[in-house]
Amino acid sequence: MADYSQAKQFLSHSQHAINATQQLRTTVANVFEFLRDGINGEEGKNQFLQTFQDLLVAVNKDFSELEKLGNSMSTMPDVGNAALGPAGNLCMEGDADENNLFQDTLLAYQWYTKLHSRAQIASSLVPMYKRTLSTSAISIARARRGSTNPAQQMKPHSVNAAHVESYMANTLPRQFSDLIIKMIYSQGSTKILHVTVGKVLYALILFRGLMIEKVIVRGLGEDVFDVDTPDMFTPSRFECMRHISDHASSALLYVDQYLHVQMDLKPRFVMAWLQSHKGLMTDSCQKCGKHLNNGLPPTFRDFKSYAPYHTGCK
Ligand SMILES: [Zn+2]
Repeated sequence: MADYSQAKQFLSHSQHAINATQQLRTTVANVFEFLRDGINGEEGKNQFLQTFQDLLVAVNKDFSELEKLGNSMSTMPDVGNAALGPAGNLCMEGDADENNLFQDTLLAYQWYTKLHSRAQIASSLVPMYKRTLSTSAISIARARRGSTNPAQQMKPHSVNAAHVESYMANTLPRQFSDLIIKMIYSQGSTKILHVTVGKVLYALILFRGLMIEKVIVRGLGEDVFDVDTPDMFTPSRFECMRHISDHASSALLYVDQYLHVQMDLKPRFVMAWLQSHKGLMTDSCQKCGKHLNNGLPPTFRDFKSYAPYHTGCK
């Protein structure tokens, strides 16, 4: 910091020296202007000499002032890198033109300015947003209190483990007697169900509590396990099964918007939707009326009516 104050003092002296130089130039110019005008008659000779002497005294005075300032100034102190912060390291760059340093620094400065102005706008909007959020949160909470019981407000992924196991082992198979449902993996709240749909396909369904995170569909003859754990990643080698896996992902997203209605809605919807694929090889498309389109049966089932459609006809 000491170096920094010395540099400031140096700059102040420099400014004074510049002012003194300008003053000296003015007084010297006055001398030459006076000489240019010359003497007016014999009677003005003494007056001329007196004025000339005064002007030279003024020049001498300003010159002495400038000389005094010059002597008081030392060399520019080294402010060091610390006072300039990271910018002080710029002088260590070998070739500033070659590495585009100036343009990059300018760009960073522009981004910083833009960021600063937007942050100011955002900070002015936050209080308004908080008010809106709290109002809507209160209205949602009121609506839920009026329409559902406390059990239905529980989060699907935080349901009691014993309840989930009982639900998967008893309730689901009872509700969907056409499906063969087996639990093939269980680790904490993570469980994988193997669901066989008729003589057509099987699906592996990854649960976290009662929340379904992934569904993968394969043909009946394809491998279920990768070594000794259920294989949730390898796609089916049959194109129509891969299509159904894709549609299953869409089905999970579709049902998410209704999750607040009932906690086990997602498993029930997915099972019913999978069950509608029982006639995959015999159903014809609801739109074009054909069975095969591009060599594929209607692999898509409508999320509301479960009606069959080809992928391109939905
Ligand atoms: Zn069709």
